[in-house]
Amino acid sequence: MNSSLRLAVIKGIPVEIHISWLLIFFLLSISLAQGYFPEIVEGYSNMVYWAAAIITTLIVFASVLTHEFGHSLVALKEGIPIKKITLFIFGGVAQMESEPNNPSTEFKVTAAGPITSLLIAVLTGAIYYLMLSPGLLISESILFVARVNLIMAVFNMVPAFPLDGGRLFRSVVWYFSKNMLTATRISVGFGSFLSFLIMALGFAMIFFQGNILGLWLIFIGWMIYQAGQSSYSQLVFKETFAGMKVSELMSKELQTISPDATLDELADAFLHYKYGAFPVVYGSTTHGIVSLQNMKDIPREKWAETRVSQILTPLKETMVLKPDTDAAEVMMRMATENTGRALVMKNGDLVGLLSRTDMMRFMQMHMVLGSD
Ligand SMILES: [Zn+2]
Repeated sequence: MNSSLRLAVIKGIPVEIHISWLLIFFLLSISLAQGYFPEIVEGYSNMVYWAAAIITTLIVFASVLTHEFGHSLVALKEGIPIKKITLFIFGGVAQMESEPNNPSTEFKVTAAGPITSLLIAVLTGAIYYLMLSPGLLISESILFVARVNLIMAVFNMVPAFPLDGGRLFRSVVWYFSKNMLTATRISVGFGSFLSFLIMALGFAMIFFQGNILGLWLIFIGWMIYQAGQSSYSQLVFKETFAGMKVSELMSKELQTISPDATLDELADAFLHYKYGAFPVVYGSTTHGIVSLQNMKDIPREKWAETRVSQILTPLKETMVLKPDTDAAEVMMRMATENTGRALVMKNGDLVGLLSRTDMMRFMQMHMVLGSD
C-alpha cells in the first residue's frame, strides 16, 4: 500500500503520515477553530482562531509522534530495530522489525508509550496552572494539549490487544505462562470481549441518547477487534511457518493444462485429478491459472466450444511467488487478499503450485503433531 507520505527521518527512523491522517487533522482543526476556541475564549478574529487551532493540532500530533518515539527509543535500546513510524487516523504506530522475544522487554517497550504521554500531560498541565492565566487563547491551547495527552495515556491503557494496555496484559500473562502464543490468545480474547463492549456502548449512545458520537465508539471497537484478530493470526502463521520457505510447502508434481483445451476436457481433468485448479501452460510459457471458480459461470452447452484461454486468470493477475519467499508472509498475504492459490516461478519457469488449503492442512498437522 502506498497511501503514506514520508515526512522525515528522525534518529534513523522514517516518519510517515497515512492519508487517513489528513482527515483527522482537518476535523480536529475545524472543530477547534469553529467550535471549541470561540466558545471558551471570546473576542478574537476568525483568523486568530484558525491559527491557534492549526498550531494546537500540530502540537497534538507532535505528542502522538513523541508517544511512538517513547516506544521506539526503548525498543532500539533493547536491540529491536524500528522499521518506521506511521501517523494515521487513530494516532500512530511504531512498526518493529521483530516482536520482543521475552515478556520483560515487551513490558518495557510498551510501557514507554503511555508513560511518555503522561509526562507530556503533566508537563503541559504544570505550565498551564503555574505560568499561564486562564481565559487566554494560548492557555486554553496548552490545556487542550494536556487533556489530549492524558486521554491518550488512559485510552492506550485499555487492556485490548494490540493497544498498549493489551500488550502489557499479554506480557504479564506471558511472564507467568512462559508461552507467548497462549498469552496472545488470552489477551486477544479479552480484547475482543472489550471491543464488543465498546461497540455495544456506541449503539446504546445512539439509540437511547440520540448521540451520534456513538458511531465513533462502534468504529473504534470494530478497529480494535480487527487489529486483534489480524495480529493473532499473524503470530500463529509466524509460529507455524517459522523459517520455512515456499519451496518446502508447494506441490511440485504439477498437472498442467493447455490453453487450447476445451472446457469439456477441463471438466474431465477436474474429475480425474480432483484438483481445484490447474496452471495453464503451453510449451515453456505459463499463461495463468484456471480454477473451478473460473468455470462455474459458463453454461454447460458452451463447454465444447469454449477454450481454457478464454476463461483463465492471466499470469499478471495471479499471485506469483519465488521458491525462497518466506512462507509465513505468503500465508498472511493469502489471508488478507483472499487468494486461494499461487504459482511458484523461478526465472520464468513454473516450478510449483501453492494453495491455501495445503498451508491450512500443514497448520493443522503442526498443531496436532507439534513442531517436530
Ligand atoms: Zn503506544
